[in-house]
Amino acid sequence: MVGAGQLARMTHQAAIDLGVELRVLAATSQDPAVLAGAVHQIGSPAELADLRRLAEGADVVTFDHERVPPELLARLEADGVNLAPPARAKLLAQDKAHQREHLAALGLPVPPFALARGLREIEEFGSLHGWPLVAKAPRGGYDGRGVTVVADAKVASAVLGELPDGVLLEPLLAIEQELAVLVARTRVGEQVAYPVAQTVQRDAMCREIRVPAPIPPQLADKARSLALEIAERSGAVGLLALELFVVDGLLLVNELALRPHNSGHFTIEGSCTSQFEQHLRAVLGWPLGVPDLVAPAVVTVNVVGPADGAQPAERVAEALAVPGVHLHLYGKEPAPGRKLGHVTACGAQIAEVAARAREAASILEGGSA
Ligand code: ADP
Repeated sequence: MVGAGQLARMTHQAAIDLGVELRVLAATSQDPAVLAGAVHQIGSPAELADLRRLAEGADVVTFDHERVPPELLARLEADGVNLAPPARAKLLAQDKAHQREHLAALGLPVPPFALARGLREIEEFGSLHGWPLVAKAPRGGYDGRGVTVVADAKVASAVLGELPDGVLLEPLLAIEQELAVLVARTRVGEQVAYPVAQTVQRDAMCREIRVPAPIPPQLADKARSLALEIAERSGAVGLLALELFVVDGLLLVNELALRPHNSGHFTIEGSCTSQFEQHLRAVLGWPLGVPDLVAPAVVTVNVVGPADGAQPAERVAEALAVPGVHLHLYGKEPAPGRKLGHVTACGAQIAEVAARAREAASILEGGSA
């Protein structure tokens, strides 16, 4: 696996059960997957030699992030390396503007958008759709970093100054709900979709995942069909996470990732097959697991580094006093606003389950619950 962050760490945990050896490409010996004992190689995802060494003798090479330059993915494939997802599909997840154009060309529902390289194009988009706008960095953004609400042309020029290669523009949408759907797909096209999750964001960062999403069954069916269609048409292999907005009761595709995803952490205790085991099964071409929930309601709350830089690991005992919660700490250095772990609870009713997961997460974040 290229990358050794929390996604690699949790994939490593699933690999242990399946008797699979996961080798990770880590930036440092302190990366979360390395601290969890995964066999590792220190190197850079932007160095062909490091990627080649990682791939040596591996059945398949997969990813926990989007930071491998596309030309290197193509070189690896030309070497005969089995990439999952394949280079062409992975490229889709790496550039928001390219992804949006691809999805729109497939006729899929996406928000109005434009790729702007100059101030004049931003002004035109603003006069067409109204201010404020949302400007996104096409590459490298996550957890809302790279997403800016642009009030007027003055703010727009500041954003452009930082992103000389252009920005993806969207109107500021009146989003009623945000949803996420996970799909796993094998190279021969076997696919399964998980129940639709509702994701709840604060400051453009996902804080909570509630499953099943409180939406009509027809909308849930539509969301799952959309995710299955996108997985098939983009040639995904492994996990695909589709993020959707509900606007005026209709689904719009926000973005997709071709790897395990934060919105899928609920599956570790909440589903018959965790997203990490499912990703391994899919990239290895093994039979896919059952995606059903094990309880009527499952909620995951992210643990985000508090402003005082406190370490959640010091509050584990207190958090575990909350009944029936499952803690996951990623072994990361605490920093304000950084995702350091998550808590999942399962039960009969969303509100009760959410209350327990929030209480434990809040204790870990240093609050009094
Ligand atoms: P990232 O890749 O950093 O998560 P996203 O594009 O998913 O960035 O945006 C992060 C969050 O910002 C979304 O989950 C949503 O809450 C908000 N957001 C994104 N685009 C828009 C938009 N056009 N209108 C309103 N809110 C938006």
